[in-house]
Amino acid sequence: MSDLTKKSAAELAAMLAAGETTSVAITQACLDQIDAVDTDIHAFLHVDAEGALAQAAASDARRAAGTPASPLDGVPVAVKDVLATEGLPTTCGSKILDGWIPPYDATVVSRLKEAGLPILGKTNMDEFAMGSSTEHSAYGPTRNPWDTDRIPGGSGGGSAAAVAAFEAPLALGTDTGGSIRQPGAVTGTVGLKPTYGGISRYGLVAMANSLDQVGPVTRTVLDAALLHEVIGGHDPLDSTSIDQPLPALADAARQGAAGDLAGVRIGVISELRGEGYQAGVEQRFDEAVALLTKAGAEVVEVSCPSFVHALAAYYLIMPSEASSNLARFDAMRYGLRVVPDGDPSAEEVMRATRDAGFGDEVKRRIILGTYALSSGYYDAYYGQAQKVRTLISRDFEAAFAKADVLVSPTAPTTAFKIGEKLDDPVAMYLNDVATIPANLAGIPGLSLPAGLAPEDGLPVGFQVLAPALADDRLYRVGAALEAMLEKEWGGPLLAQAPALGGAR
Ligand code: GLN
Repeated sequence: MSDLTKKSAAELAAMLAAGETTSVAITQACLDQIDAVDTDIHAFLHVDAEGALAQAAASDARRAAGTPASPLDGVPVAVKDVLATEGLPTTCGSKILDGWIPPYDATVVSRLKEAGLPILGKTNMDEFAMGSSTEHSAYGPTRNPWDTDRIPGGSGGGSAAAVAAFEAPLALGTDTGGSIRQPGAVTGTVGLKPTYGGISRYGLVAMANSLDQVGPVTRTVLDAALLHEVIGGHDPLDSTSIDQPLPALADAARQGAAGDLAGVRIGVISELRGEGYQAGVEQRFDEAVALLTKAGAEVVEVSCPSFVHALAAYYLIMPSEASSNLARFDAMRYGLRVVPDGDPSAEEVMRATRDAGFGDEVKRRIILGTYALSSGYYDAYYGQAQKVRTLISRDFEAAFAKADVLVSPTAPTTAFKIGEKLDDPVAMYLNDVATIPANLAGIPGLSLPAGLAPEDGLPVGFQVLAPALADDRLYRVGAALEAMLEKEWGGPLLAQAPALGGAR
């Protein structure tokens, strides 16, 4: 493995700016690493070597001319396959979109291109972003670089594994109920879900519009802030995009890394621990909280009593929105078309196509959502769930009156074995118990590595939550914690990862 693949995006950007390397060299090193490890990891559904190298050469020309397009110009990135990429396949991990090549770029993808980041390819995911393990991909699972018998989290397991296995320094994910943060937690990477409306959803294939957000997947907190600054900010093409400037995110990360948290109030959420949380996860979480206190933060306990209903509310709201969104896959407009024998009607073609094209989890959620929205049940299910959603927002408001940021473990356990929860949807859903409240309330959340659980030696995630529009607080607190933890570990956590990906 080339040394270049081990560098953070900020380090690569500094090397590029100093003329110490080229984007072509970095991009080639990533492609070589993909060649070396992706047969085992399966983080990518599609690799665009030619396109990435051409973009890298163009970046090198800009740098040589002294006109880089952005601080990250030339640093390669991988993109979750739920984001539309002009000319590159976009499957959402589903057979129903097999062969679909979008005629346009998602806004976040155009922003990557405008900023000069070569796009390495598209990453694997649970079908239509439904899942917590990437086992629901129609193209086979992604494997966790820490232990290839284990899941990399989901739905964005491909993006997290690509970054953890040094195949890409940066990736984009999407988070509807935790799909950036939970894979980050179980792979020892950093992931951020922004404030709802903070990063454009235009060209993100919708699962649940009121919850979905795009965000950065990286190896350091500063890298997440740098990528967030490239993709974030107002987009007139997304009607839910917030029309105001982003806070200074990378500056907040740099300030945090200096280590001073004096005056910062940190609220530990009492409902997001205890029963169901692995002992080693709680242990690493408590140690991280103790470090924050050492840096001058004031730690308080906060209670969010409605959180116990968050998972139930999510699994009504999300399938309701998804059942409506997925109606567009009708065999007429995109991808797959299955035509039964004889002289089938349009409805028969749709039925055969949807039957063959959607996997079990997608069908389960379409049925659940259609039922929850049906007249007679709407008030009892969807209506009630929306009321719970309001209560969760009020819990957050009350908690943020006492604390500047809230913290919890990102996921209740470390990475589980492939196949372990596949036949038990509720066990699978429980992985997102700590991440879902932020999506329901539209607030931002960050996950960063907190260490390895003593019982299994696997990564534990630490979650930081902030009020809407205060994403900068996540970067400040996250970078401070990261700096203190890395001092204890003697370097990044991923340096302790097993040999796959060449990390050991
Ligand atoms: N695991 C959650 C689900 O299955 C969240 C998915 C996501 O954030 N895309 O819905």
